[in-house]
Amino acid sequence: MLEDIKGVGPKVISNLNKLGIYTIKDLIEYYPYRYEILKRTDLNSEKVVIDGYLEENAKIFRYGKKDRLTFRFNTGSNIINVIIFNRGFLKGKLLIGIKLTLIGKYDIIKNTLVASDLRFSLLPEKTIIEPIYHETKGITSKQINNIIVSSYNYVDKVDSVLPDYLVDKYKFLDKYTSIKEIHNPTSTSNYNSSLNRLKFEELYEFMYKINILKNNKKLQIGLKRSVDYKKIEEVINNLPFKLTGDQIKAIKEIYTDLISPKRMNRLLEGDVGSGKTIVSFIALYINYLSGYEGALMAPTEILAVQHYNNITKLFPNLKVSLLTGKLTVKEKKEIYKKIENKEVDIIIGTSALIQDNIKYNNLGLVITDEQHRFGVNQRATLKNKGITPDVLYMSATPIPRTYALVLYGDMDVSIIKEKPSGRIDVKTSLYDMKHIKDALIVMYKELKNNHQVYVVSPIIEDDENELMDVYRLEEELGKAFKDKNIKVLHGKMKNDEKEKIMNDFKNNKINILISTTVIEVGVDVPNATVMAIFDAYKFGLSTLHQLRGRVGRSNLESYCLLISDKESKRLDILTKTNDGYKISEEDFKLRGSGDLLGIRQSGDMSFKLVNLERDYNILLKAKEEVEYSLNNNLIDIIDIDNLA
Ligand code: ADP
Ligand code: MG
Repeated sequence: MLEDIKGVGPKVISNLNKLGIYTIKDLIEYYPYRYEILKRTDLNSEKVVIDGYLEENAKIFRYGKKDRLTFRFNTGSNIINVIIFNRGFLKGKLLIGIKLTLIGKYDIIKNTLVASDLRFSLLPEKTIIEPIYHETKGITSKQINNIIVSSYNYVDKVDSVLPDYLVDKYKFLDKYTSIKEIHNPTSTSNYNSSLNRLKFEELYEFMYKINILKNNKKLQIGLKRSVDYKKIEEVINNLPFKLTGDQIKAIKEIYTDLISPKRMNRLLEGDVGSGKTIVSFIALYINYLSGYEGALMAPTEILAVQHYNNITKLFPNLKVSLLTGKLTVKEKKEIYKKIENKEVDIIIGTSALIQDNIKYNNLGLVITDEQHRFGVNQRATLKNKGITPDVLYMSATPIPRTYALVLYGDMDVSIIKEKPSGRIDVKTSLYDMKHIKDALIVMYKELKNNHQVYVVSPIIEDDENELMDVYRLEEELGKAFKDKNIKVLHGKMKNDEKEKIMNDFKNNKINILISTTVIEVGVDVPNATVMAIFDAYKFGLSTLHQLRGRVGRSNLESYCLLISDKESKRLDILTKTNDGYKISEEDFKLRGSGDLLGIRQSGDMSFKLVNLERDYNILLKAKEEVEYSLNNNLIDIIDIDNLA
């Protein structure tokens, strides 16, 4: 328990919760996403780390929501100018004579250092490697590290499925040392061995759970149901559009699974915009007709609301509830009660569907949308609610066959290749900042036709002013399109605010929506015909392809404008193909190995340390070892119900 750790009280716990940390295991596995190497450099190096003292009190300039601190700084051998963006709150501390270490970029002509980070101390003689964690309001990276350090005593009490014989076999460092090294590396070689062990452990646990899911007899037994397919045809014939052949085929496969006595465990894969949602709704309807409740879990609030609105329109007679994290406790309780009292046919929600203690009566079908966003843990938990419901996963991320075989080897797959008829491929073009006008002209023309525009930036606020952050875009586009309604949307905004903006965009009350990748998955606004992505080089190809999939959702000609001064060769792939499979293959190939202590990959499979591309060989090893351990009874088989 978190409160067992010295110095951890309710306030800290509530801050940790905000970061998704609820247990000591979560805490210990809250790994740094990068490290800052603090070693004195000279002013010529690419990234300057230098110490000294202030020659004067810092001055502040405020402009709009932003600010800039400036002061002269003595490094012992030079006096330089320093600029720090958006840390106005430090002004009172930045006084003449104060000693500082600064990290940043130096411009020799202007004799100016733009500091991205600073420490209120001089550099020690020895190089320090500082772990940097994702922070949240109320808790800093440094504090997070302190708490983690205080929790080391509990490392050995945290469960691990990795058997001792494998630790010996691979001569792994012990867990305690590995954890310490990953949070506060003492040397490159110790760090590497620790990383190796922890990655292996993560993949071993992952493959172990996959195996348990795959082989559990209990999970093979399906539900008894009978539904007349004619009733499904009726719904299909009354849709506002004609389903594609692949959609019908997927529905038939799902129908056959559902009525068969064997349990369904199916992956529905289809490129963005291929129309997976309607297939899932019909699956929920089949499930309803056979007398069971169904659940649909979406990765984001926005998406859950969208699904909820659509399904209630399609099936006005069904009782549908929406359960998301933003509901009040009271509202949630009311929904739980409804579920318990069998007053709900279909429940739509975010992961609140599994985190909370819901007593489903008769859960017959569980669907997760964009399932690559959920870890295997979540997959397991949802499966275990209620009886053993049939399960359908949906994903728009085509996983290259080799990976799919390992990760989803236990599933049947339906693939939607065919796009709804009348769809025109999105026209994709690449611009550098010099030619931004050409991109603006495309936007202008589309806006003139009362179509809408998405604009995406990789960052909410860029302290170093290098990227076009969402607020800068708001300012610049505001100047270019004076009479248009422009709004900003990003992950740090309040949920109701986000929802309102999304709804206004849907209802064409907003012309240009500037956002971070919060709109990456699932959102459906057919009248939007332009997706403009700034600093596109910051994104993986698959992400860009997903973003592009937000437009081209009707028979209107649509445009994807990639704006980037870097990596045009890589981005060029997107101008040449609209095939999500090809793009993901390229992406896996291209996403290089990164620096030794570089930025950790997060995303696709929700691993904490592992990057599937780079660590594929470890994955294969882990798979082999798990199978060996299980076949030779070298490791306990835990009951599926206890799978965390
Ligand atoms: P995804 O597979 O990315 O989840 P959606 O299910 O959101 O795609 O579908 C994209 C859009 O296409 C939605 O507006 C949906 O209503 C529409 N759509 C789905 N199937 C068809 C079809 N057969 N014909 C025309 N439009 C369709
Ligand atoms: Mg979708």
